[in-house]
Parts: sequence; structure tokens; C-alpha cells
Amino acid sequence: MSRIPMIAGNWKMNLNRDESVRLVKAIAGTIGPMDDPEVLVAPPFTVLSVVKEAIGQGKILLGAQNVHWELEGAYTGEISPAMLKEAGCTHVILGHSERRSIFMETDAMIDRKSKAVVEMGLIPIVCIGETLEQREAGKTFEIIQGQLDGSLRNFRENKGMPSTAVLAYEPVWAIGTGRTATPQQAQEVHRFVRDWLRSQFGQGLSTATRILYGGSVKPDNIKELMAMPDIDGALVGGASLKADSFTRIIKFRA
Ligand code: PEP
Repeated sequence: MSRIPMIAGNWKMNLNRDESVRLVKAIAGTIGPMDDPEVLVAPPFTVLSVVKEAIGQGKILLGAQNVHWELEGAYTGEISPAMLKEAGCTHVILGHSERRSIFMETDAMIDRKSKAVVEMGLIPIVCIGETLEQREAGKTFEIIQGQLDGSLRNFRENKGMPSTAVLAYEPVWAIGTGRTATPQQAQEVHRFVRDWLRSQFGQGLSTATRILYGGSVKPDNIKELMAMPDIDGALVGGASLKADSFTRIIKFRA
């Protein structure tokens, strides 16, 4: 079974309203009505609606960068899954390493969020990845397994995860550093994640689930990463902020 790749742009806390609209229109104008790869942008909360409007009937998918697990209530500063749905999102990035390290998000929190997101009919993009210190201590697989076990606990306990759910392996040492994992380093972790999926949910889901790579993905390294059998796309930070570099990544087959 072949998985349709996904190229997702995480805009982080960048771009104002005009810049956001200009960027998404430039991406749409360059790629046209493309189904393969799937293309997603994840802008800041405040511009989700205008970016959705700019996408119109186009194929670009809209994602958020975070969410709270409750549907409503006294959670000052938070945004609910229902609010994201209303803004036009289909996907939500969860557990990005910046959320884990700067905002102290734990696997248990990511687990609650992934459950809430799926209950709202949204698709989670769950991020995992080891730090340089953990890699150098030979703990990469142990860390990845712990993050998978903890962040996807509700799916494990229910013995089911939606086949649309996306995982993203983002080694922390490669994010925003210009230092990409080699295709072989990425592939061995992606293989490990796919084996973990098989052990938890069976062969069908393991084969169907897309596992993205993230960490200094650029137009000049995407092709070799995408040549790996278990890399199904990319979660792109810096290079997603410019139409030229992002569309060259999207057109990795050219
Ligand atoms: C990211 O933030 O998810 C990311 C991968 O960033 P960059 O591409 O800039 O390394």
C-alpha cells in the first residue's frame, strides 16, 4: 500500500496577516490543484481564519500549532478543538519540541490533546524526537518509545488509532539548526516507529500511517530524505516561510 506524502509547513510565531495571506496565495498559485503530496500550512491562531479564506476551495490543508484538551471553560489563553474546527482547521500539530521544552508539555498532556482532537473530528500530527544529549548517550530509541507510549496512551488503551493520524519524527538537534539528520539516521528511527505501530495496532495501521521527518528540511535535502522507504513527508519550519523554498520542497519529485 502506498502512502500519499504530506508536506506540512509550521509557521511558528511568524508572519503578520498580510504576509500570511500573500504566502498561502503564492504557494497555491505555484502548486495548483495538487493531490500528491498533500500540502498543509500551520499558521498562528490569529490568522487561521484569513488563511482559510485565502485558500478558498484550494487543496491546501489548514493546521493549528497547538490546542487545549477541553472543549470550553475557564482556561485563560487557551484554544479548544471546537474553535480550531470552526476556524477551518483539519489538523493540529501536537507535542512539538518547542512546546515540550519551552512550555513544559508532557506526554500525558499530549495524550489528552490527541484524544480531544480526534473526538472533534480533527487529525493530530504528533511530534516526537530526542535531544542531542539523549542521542549521544545512546538513548534515542528508548526516548522515542517513551514518547510514543505516553503521547498515544489513549489510542493504545483503546487498541485503535485513526489511520489518518500523522506522526512526525523531529530530532531536537536538527530543528532550526541547519543540521539535518542523514537520511539513514532518519530512516532507522522511522522504521522503529513503524515497528512500534505494528506492535500496538497491527500491520494495517502500521502500513497506513504517515511518518513525517522534521529538522532543517530544505529544497536541497528533501529528495534524499523522501527516497527512504519509511519517510512519508516533511514537517518544515524555517523553509516553509518563503513560497520559493516551500514549493520547491513540495515539488521534491521534480
Ligand atoms: C519545526 O519547527 O518543526 C522544524 C522542523 O523547523 P526547521 O525546519 O526550521 O528545522
